[in-house]
Amino acid sequence: MAAAITRLVRPKSSIARWARRCLSASAASGANSHTPPYNNSSAINLKPQLSRKGQEENGNIHWVFLGCPGVGKGTYASRLSTLIGVPHIATGDLVREELASSGPLSAQLPEIVNQGKLVSDEIIISLLSKRLAAGKAKGESGFILDGFPRTIRQAEILEGVTDIDLVINLKLREDVLLEKCLGRRICSQCGGNFNLASIDIKGENGSPGIIMAPLLPPAHCMSKLITRSDDTEAVVKERLRLYNEKSQPVEEFYRSRGKLLEFDLPGGIPESWPKLLQALNLDDYDDKHSIAA
Ligand SMILES: [Zn+2]
Repeated sequence: MAAAITRLVRPKSSIARWARRCLSASAASGANSHTPPYNNSSAINLKPQLSRKGQEENGNIHWVFLGCPGVGKGTYASRLSTLIGVPHIATGDLVREELASSGPLSAQLPEIVNQGKLVSDEIIISLLSKRLAAGKAKGESGFILDGFPRTIRQAEILEGVTDIDLVINLKLREDVLLEKCLGRRICSQCGGNFNLASIDIKGENGSPGIIMAPLLPPAHCMSKLITRSDDTEAVVKERLRLYNEKSQPVEEFYRSRGKLLEFDLPGGIPESWPKLLQALNLDDYDDKHSIAA
C-alpha cells in the first residue's frame, strides 16, 4: 500500500511561515486550555505580515481540525474552507464518494462498511492521498482536513503523505458539550437538525462564561422532534472517553512538533467564529479579500 501513496511536495509558503508565527506567539504566552490564545495580547499584536500578493501566490494551507464529537468541528472547518478558498476534506465523505464511484476500492468497500467494520487506515490514507493528488493537479492551494488523523498511527502515515502546517484543536468544556449533545433533536418529518440546549454559564474566578443559544425548530417541526437513540448521557460520556483516549496521543504528536493550536470555544458560532479568526490571525482576511476582489 505504501507504494500507492504519493508524497505531495509543495514549496514552503508564506502562509505556512505565518501559521508557525501564530503558533509560536501562542506558545510563548503559554496559551493552553486555561488561557485561550485569543485572550493574550502578544498573539493579537503579531498580525500576519502577509501581503495579499504573498497569499495569492503561495497560499498553500495544510491544516487539520481536531475536536471531539459534538464540538462543531465540521462546521468551523467548512466555514474556514469557504473563507480562505481551500477544500474542506472529511474522510467520511471520501469513503462515501468512493462507494458511489467505480473506483478501485468500490468493490471491497461495501463489504467492509456493510459488515460494520472500520475502514482500515490504509484504505483511508489511500483515498486521501488520491484526493490530495487530484486537488493538486487541479491547482487547489491546500486543504483543511476534518476527522483525520484520528489515531497516532494515522498521524504517522499522514506525515509520509504530506506536510501539515497547523493542527487546530477545538475544545469545549465537557459539561457544556454533554448538555449540547443531550439537547440534539431531529425532526422526524423533514430530517432537520435542532438543538434545544440553551447554555448561559456566568464567568467566575477568572474563567470566561459561555453562552450558546439553542437552535430551535420552526413551529411546524416542534411536535415532531425525536432524540437519537445514542444521545443518552451514558453513551455520550462513553463516546467522549473513547475520543479522549485516542486523541490525546495525536494531540501530543502535533504538540511536540510545535503544530498544535489549542482553541477553547467561548460559546456558539456567533461568539466563537470571530475569536477563531483572531486566533488564526485571519480576522482581517475578509477585508483584504474584498479589497482584492
Ligand atoms: Zn420538520
